[in-house]
Amino acid sequence: MNNTEKKLKLILTMKKIGVKDNRVLKTMETTDRSLFLDGIFKAKSLEDIPLPIDCGQTISQPSLVAVMTDKLNLTSRCKVLEIGTGSGYQTAILSKLSRRVYSIERHEKLKIKAQKLLHENGFNNVTTILGDGSQGIERQAPFDRIILTAAAEDVPKILLGQLKVGGVMVLPIGLPQSDQTLIRLRKEPMQVIYDEIANVRFVPLVEGIAIQEGM
Ligand code: SAH
Repeated sequence: MNNTEKKLKLILTMKKIGVKDNRVLKTMETTDRSLFLDGIFKAKSLEDIPLPIDCGQTISQPSLVAVMTDKLNLTSRCKVLEIGTGSGYQTAILSKLSRRVYSIERHEKLKIKAQKLLHENGFNNVTTILGDGSQGIERQAPFDRIILTAAAEDVPKILLGQLKVGGVMVLPIGLPQSDQTLIRLRKEPMQVIYDEIANVRFVPLVEGIAIQEGM
């Protein structure tokens, strides 16, 4: 299969698993995942699998990035908070579909690398932040959308507090090394409505900023 065929196959997979929004599909098609990968992994960018990135973390599989983005129901007016910048791939997708993206990462090496890549490639509505994402960003709250790309054991209360009424949060919930559930929640004036999307496996949401192991 050549790269065009591989990409077509990938987009077909996304459609099959229920991604309907054409803007999401188009963005997935036109955002080069290999930019966010290193060395030998660049050649695997069109495979629908998670791949290793620095600091023992992983870039999610493209179909899952598409599902999570689709479930966020982004509009060009949205102010988005992302927890877990990682490679910056999901951040790039969010950037194209919303007004402003704030992305928090606890590993300085990943944060610096993603920031450079995003700015060099014209994703100018993104601010990357080194920090503990479970604390959110009080001074920028409330957010229209919040997405976590690391699994929490429960919905972080602080983040729920920083979500606008009418806002949507997409996150994996569950214990590390076990099956987790991808959840979509909508904050209504008097209640929070939860939907289960899929069984997934993500790296865990870890408290605090990571101690540098040499860069
Ligand atoms: N969306 C990323 C996925 C990266 S994996 C991508 O497409 O590449 C999840 C990331 O969450 C990891 O980089 C990990 O370091 C980060 N992370 C885990 N706990 C965190 C926390 N409390 N605050 C910020 N980032 C966190």
